[in-house]
Amino acid sequence: MKCEDLLRAMNDYVDGNVDPGICEQFEQHLAGCNPCQVVVDNIRKTITLYKAGQPYEMPAAFHQRLRAAIRQKWKATFSKGS
Ligand SMILES: [Zn+2]
Repeated sequence: MKCEDLLRAMNDYVDGNVDPGICEQFEQHLAGCNPCQVVVDNIRKTITLYKAGQPYEMPAAFHQRLRAAIRQKWKATFSKGS
C-alpha cells in the first residue's frame, strides 16, 4: 500500500465502509509511515469532533467538507519535506 492508497482508504473510512482487508494493510502502512500517522491522527480527531455534534448520520455536505479537509491535510503534510 502506498500513501495514495491510504488516502483512498481514508475516504472509505469517512464513509464508514472500510474493507477489513484494507484495514490490515492500512495499519501496516501506518506503522511505517510517519506522515500518514500524523494525517490519520488529525482526521480521526476531526471525525470524533464532528461525531460528538452529530451522533449518527453525517450529512452529504459534511462528507464533502471532511474529504476536502482530508486532502488539504494530506497536501500540507507531504509538501513540507519535498
Ligand atoms: Zn504513507
